[in-house]
Amino acid sequence: MPPLTVRHATVILPDRLMPDARISIDHGVIVAVEPEDSKSVAGDSMDLQGQFVAPGFVDIHVHGGGGADFMDGTEEAVRTAAGTHLRHGTTTIFPTTTTGSPTQLLGMIDAVRQASREVDGSDPKGSDSLPAMPGIHLYGPFFAPDKCGCHEVTGRRDPAADEFQKYFETGLVRIATCAAELPGAKAFYETALANDCLITCGHSNASWAEMQSAFESGMRHVDHFWCAMSSVSSLRPRLGTPMQAGMEQFVLMNREMSTEVIADGQHLAPELLEFAFRMIGPDRLCLVTDSSRALDCPPGRYKFGHSANGTDFIHDGFVGRAPGGGLASSVMGMDHMVRTMKRHTSASLPEVIRMATLTPARLTGLDDRIGSVEPGKAADLILLDPDLNIRHVFRNGRRVI
Ligand SMILES: [Zn+2]
Ligand SMILES: [Zn+2]
Repeated sequence: MPPLTVRHATVILPDRLMPDARISIDHGVIVAVEPEDSKSVAGDSMDLQGQFVAPGFVDIHVHGGGGADFMDGTEEAVRTAAGTHLRHGTTTIFPTTTTGSPTQLLGMIDAVRQASREVDGSDPKGSDSLPAMPGIHLYGPFFAPDKCGCHEVTGRRDPAADEFQKYFETGLVRIATCAAELPGAKAFYETALANDCLITCGHSNASWAEMQSAFESGMRHVDHFWCAMSSVSSLRPRLGTPMQAGMEQFVLMNREMSTEVIADGQHLAPELLEFAFRMIGPDRLCLVTDSSRALDCPPGRYKFGHSANGTDFIHDGFVGRAPGGGLASSVMGMDHMVRTMKRHTSASLPEVIRMATLTPARLTGLDDRIGSVEPGKAADLILLDPDLNIRHVFRNGRRVI
């Protein structure tokens, strides 16, 4: 591949905008980001006339897209879902499990392994037409029974070492979720820590004391803030009085904790997005899509989780709705989350982009390779118009969208 120079770009750096910049790319890697000086350059070049260049998005919590759920457990489903998110600017994706049988979970992990063999590997076909898949997010099945949300409740269970060891042994689990109050949670967290995972507590009604003990075992993150998590009022029926603090207070008080929001404009009202941004900040808060298979599909009835025995939900054109009217995941890509966060909060554009790129990259240990437009990092880039719509997507310096 010849060197590529992207000219007259407005680069969205982690802390500021860099107008009229030139990005030099060679062998799929960013080699320089510097002020444009209109000298001629070797190789191909592309004149952006001031349009935005951002790092490709990093999605740490995502279930599917394009009609496929990662839990469908086929290579084709993984390719379909991941490829759909690429069109929305996601260049690194962590396929996320839900509740289901051990066979279904292992099937999903194996399907991700097959699909990702062609990605970032030595495959001469060089399938850059998918996002990078550095691993999976082991999310279900270790949810609290009273916080399953839209996930099939019969597919949840308490963590048992003989089961979860099999998932970790695949070497593909990079993010690991477990509700902190479950028996066996401590052993789960310790195994996840030994496997270098981002350890998260989600779908949980954990108390402050349970969060503190999980923290001591390595837990540092909470899934989708305010969704399927404990609060002072949800803990009262469980633990009585005096009323107790839960996950919300634990994240807000502890600077070592991080979390994420589903900023689709349907899960959380604007003031909650602003609150999360102001109280938690762009270095501890990630944007996630938590998208279901219904992304880029027409409104209608779909399955959340495995196509055979997942739960039914309705895509109403804006969000997934469970039969009772409750929320059942988003139906939007990361570009939509970025636009919503920009519109509804006081976060600057570099801060909004950071929450969808460098922050999740850092939390998953990938920030030396991706997450910002800086020399030495992979040229996984997105070109955005002034309204933050995706114009083009580059994977390893090659235009794929
Ligand atoms: Zn969830
Ligand atoms: Zn989810």
